[in-house]
Amino acid sequence: MNKKDYYEVLGVSKNATDAELKSAFRKLAKQYHPDLNKEAGAEEKFKEIQEAYAVLSDPNKRKQYDQFGHAAFENNGAGGFSGFDFSGFDVDLEDILGSVFGNGFGFSSRGGSRRNARTRGDDVLYHMDLTFDEAVFGCEKDIKIDTSVECSDCNGLGGHDETTCDVCHGSGSITSEQHTILGSFVSKTTCTNCDGRGKVFKRRCSTCNGRGKVKKNRTIGVKIPSGIDSGMRLRVAGKGEAGSNGGPAGDLYLEFRVKDHEFFIRDGDDIYLTVPITITDAVLGCKKDIRTLDSVVTLNIKPGTNSNDKQRIKGRGIKNATTGHTGDMYLIFQIVLPDKLSREQKNLFEKLSDTNLENNIYIKFTKFVNKK
Ligand SMILES: [Zn+2]
Ligand SMILES: [Zn+2]
Repeated sequence: MNKKDYYEVLGVSKNATDAELKSAFRKLAKQYHPDLNKEAGAEEKFKEIQEAYAVLSDPNKRKQYDQFGHAAFENNGAGGFSGFDFSGFDVDLEDILGSVFGNGFGFSSRGGSRRNARTRGDDVLYHMDLTFDEAVFGCEKDIKIDTSVECSDCNGLGGHDETTCDVCHGSGSITSEQHTILGSFVSKTTCTNCDGRGKVFKRRCSTCNGRGKVKKNRTIGVKIPSGIDSGMRLRVAGKGEAGSNGGPAGDLYLEFRVKDHEFFIRDGDDIYLTVPITITDAVLGCKKDIRTLDSVVTLNIKPGTNSNDKQRIKGRGIKNATTGHTGDMYLIFQIVLPDKLSREQKNLFEKLSDTNLENNIYIKFTKFVNKK
């Protein structure tokens, strides 16, 4: 065995760093790769380089080699490379060429063109305004949108009478020999005649101009469930843009904007209603008709009801069809003063003011003010 020193093979010093080793290896591999270098002895040289790098790039093997030399890998006197596991170490020609030519090099034809892949159509977002009632109770709406749909003349294929591509004979790719400064080698590129499909149409569809899709103004009927609120989105499956090459259509998304109601205020599925009461209603209590979302109810307002007092009417909020939840209704009382008083009313208030109308809070406050 007259093996050359691994460091010598790669032309580096014994103290070479990993980066130096790699750089030296790459340079030599390009020079001697058997696919690129057809000179006699190039292959032998390449194997030598490969072996040296396999050992020196592995910290454990490098240590053993530094200590024992080639003997470290000579197994039971069989010699050569038999004691060394070479599996998993491979020099990829493409890897080397990639670094020679950069990323633009035409080696990416393995997967063929993506232009003809079955792709799903785009989703479409549609903004829809709803009145308060439409949102609360749900409704049915017709919307008009411009989307592309599958061409009905060619069923979305883009042409008629499909036949095998006579340029690539159905394989979708073309094999050619490339000549470079590093030598000749074989490469595969996507067939441009059929875009890698392997098939072509004898006649292009004139309706869609070969695209397989046409723009169409469509009217789509949609059912809006009860309980929709501003900002919510609803998905209408399969009503978006048509897919390509037989791919499914995208979805249509409706995004809502709900107009405010004059009196009802909404918080999720709950409804708030401010109820004005007169000063005598508040003091004496009263019966009052209240409008809920869907009916009128008569309510007993108890004597001594104050501004901002709240009363709940259970289950009179929004019936949300999406969640199955039903909200409540809240009444918030607001004492209102008369816009103007008649002489008689004024007299009555003057009489009242001579009486004691103080309550606990009033007394506490007076004590606080007069504190010394
Ligand atoms: Zn072809
Ligand atoms: Zn067509």
